[in-house]
Order: sequence, then structure tokens, then C-alpha cells
Amino acid sequence: MKIRVLGCYGGQLLGFHLTSFLVNDTVLLDAGSPTEVLTLEEQSQIKHIFLSHTHLDHIKDIAFLADNRSLKRLSNDKEACAITIHSLQDNLDTLSNHFLNNIVWPDFTKIPTASDAILNMQSFEAEDVLTVGDLEITPIEVEHPVPCTGFLLNQGGAQAIFTADTGHTDRIWEIANQQPNLKAVIIDCSFPNNREHLANISGHLTPKGMAQELKKLDNLGEVSIYLYHMKPEVLTEMASEVEAENIPHLRMLTQVDELVIEA
Ligand SMILES: [Zn+2]
Ligand SMILES: [Zn+2]
Repeated sequence: MKIRVLGCYGGQLLGFHLTSFLVNDTVLLDAGSPTEVLTLEEQSQIKHIFLSHTHLDHIKDIAFLADNRSLKRLSNDKEACAITIHSLQDNLDTLSNHFLNNIVWPDFTKIPTASDAILNMQSFEAEDVLTVGDLEITPIEVEHPVPCTGFLLNQGGAQAIFTADTGHTDRIWEIANQQPNLKAVIIDCSFPNNREHLANISGHLTPKGMAQELKKLDNLGEVSIYLYHMKPEVLTEMASEVEAENIPHLRMLTQVDELVIEA
């Protein structure tokens, strides 16, 4: 599987994009930045969005992806197919009630018509195994102030984990340790160590907290570890704190990264 990093930061500043990963060109994990990064042609290949939670930094470009597709769609262009948003039912309800509610943004689940809309919504339960072609995606509940799932990705005999936004958590590590060939973990690392209290109350990790979490991973040392959701304004400070943890095969993600996960 191929994971293209569109955005990997927990704040938006000039040159720093919000959370969004494009898997195999057609599946988005979170939608913080696709329309800032992808061409219209690349956007049109997206068929599915797996949404971890409804914080604005993970949903904002759902609005613009749908809008960018609407002119094609309204002219009955058969090439312009729909996007299905997959998430916990609570999160889909939040999108409907507070975002795509015809006040903040048009309800693209009814445009051009309800039976043939640009956006569809499909709920999942935690630990359902969902498939897109031969890619398996399993949502796993993590700790955040709103309902939130990380995702296990499995394709071609290799697995990767995206924790999504999380504080200290357990279940995702239990599932990680059950995988036969876990190759990569993308883990929250949002705030510097001196903001531990803020990290705890907002459901995020510091370098120290991230290092504690990784102790729950049985084969740490064999798995590539990638950090995401760093606050861009404290990136340099966080980089030295991360280095001090001395964890093998670990680095901060950057926006030009394309991870190839193979058996
Ligand atoms: Zn969040
Ligand atoms: Zn976030």
C-alpha cells in the first residue's frame, strides 16, 4: 500500500498543512488539507474518506472537495462519482447537524439529489473490518475529547497503524501486537513536554507521552514510527525532545513523504 502524506501538522501556518493521508490514490484518511495539495484530477480519484473524528482540522476540506466536484456533477458528468464518508455514527451525525447543515455549508449529501449525491455517509462500528478493493481498514477507538478512531490498514500481507488524535490509550496497541507483519505506526505527537497538562486535557501526546505509548508495542525496533500532528510553531523544540527519547526507526513525518508499506 502507498500512503501519501498531504498534511501532517496539528496547526495551520504558511507551508504547514493539516492532517490528511491519501492511501492508494483513492482513499483519504481525514480531510484536513486535500484541496490545498491535490490537483483537481487527483481529487477526482478520491472515492472514500475514512474520518477519525470531527475536529475541524480533520474535516474542513470535505467542504471544498465536495464543492470542487459539484460543477462536474451538476452537468451530469458520469466521470464524477460520489465520495463515501465512513465514520462512527456519532461523527456522521455531527457532520450533518453542525457542518453540512445548509448553514455552515451546503448539505452535499442531497446535492444534486438525495438519491445521487456528491457525498454519501456510511457508519461503522469500532473494530469492523471494512474493505476497499484489497485494502482492509479497521477503525479502533482511541482517547480524545470527542469520539475518535485510529485505523489499522492491511494490504498485501503488511499492516500499518494510524493512531489519529489520541492521548494515552491501550486497545490500539493490543491490536497492533496481534498483527503478523506490522510495518509502520503513525502516532500523535502534538505538544512539547512542557505542555503535558495541555496534551492530557486535549487528548494528545508529548514526545515523553508518545515514548511511553510506544513501550506498549511488542516489536518496537522493527517497526517504522512516524510522528504526526506536531504544532508547527514549536517544531524545532519538539524535534530535540523527540531525539532525546532515542527511539529506533522513528522520525517526524513531512508533507513530501510517501510511505510504501510492503510485506
Ligand atoms: Zn482532534
Ligand atoms: Zn487534530
